[in-house]
Amino acid sequence: MCVRFTVLTLFPELFPGPLGASLAGRALERGLWALHTVNMRDFGLGAHRAVDDAPFGGGAGMVLRPDVVAAALDSVPGPGRRICLSPRGAPLTQALVQDLAAEPAITLLCGRYEGVDQRALDARACEEISIGDYVLSGGEIAALALMDAVVRLIPGVMGNAQTPAEESFGPEGLLEYPHYTRPGVWEGRAVPGVLLSGNHAAIAAWRAEQALATTRARRPDLLPPQRRG
Ligand code: SAM
Repeated sequence: MCVRFTVLTLFPELFPGPLGASLAGRALERGLWALHTVNMRDFGLGAHRAVDDAPFGGGAGMVLRPDVVAAALDSVPGPGRRICLSPRGAPLTQALVQDLAAEPAITLLCGRYEGVDQRALDARACEEISIGDYVLSGGEIAALALMDAVVRLIPGVMGNAQTPAEESFGPEGLLEYPHYTRPGVWEGRAVPGVLLSGNHAAIAAWRAEQALATTRARRPDLLPPQRRG
């Protein structure tokens, strides 16, 4: 299985960026996923290749023009699911990431300035996805975050390095239990004894209890009301 990403951006030099390193970078080289960029400037208008204009109704900033954005979107062969990164979008959750990892092709539209003319998003059926309740200056870092989360779920990318089923936001919807490694005592702090016991059932029970306690303390919103304690 391979996910083919096409990223529409005014800054193609930002890609693959951090995704060219480590597990994602090796997987890219091995063809487990693919990445293309489209420079929206190539579809700009006039001598200056303008891509934006002032907002109707007034207000600060500029807006990406619908004709420019649509021409860039239309240039992508087999675009698959079209996603505009936007603080107004649906939150990017692990469940959504899992859905996206099953797609053969995804086109990511990176906004800049005040954002993208709504008509282009409506006319080209772009869903909007947000990576969190804060405002970035452009969609590129959001696109990298989304791709990173998706790529690590593609079979063969992580190998045995990590096990997604046991991670935070997995099937149980909990945050993960804490991790420890050598040395057994560090700066006077000892590793919890149960982890050294060799008793796998006791370790699993301790981890389950820690995961629930951490989720209750930090993210009770992830739990159904009856499990919030
Ligand atoms: N005027 C917009 C608003 O208030 O909702 C913010 C525009 S932001 C300065 C420029 C671009 O950054 C957006 O079009 C979007 O592509 C990207 N962006 C900013 N915050 C984001 C977030 N939390 N998630 C995804 N994309 C984001």
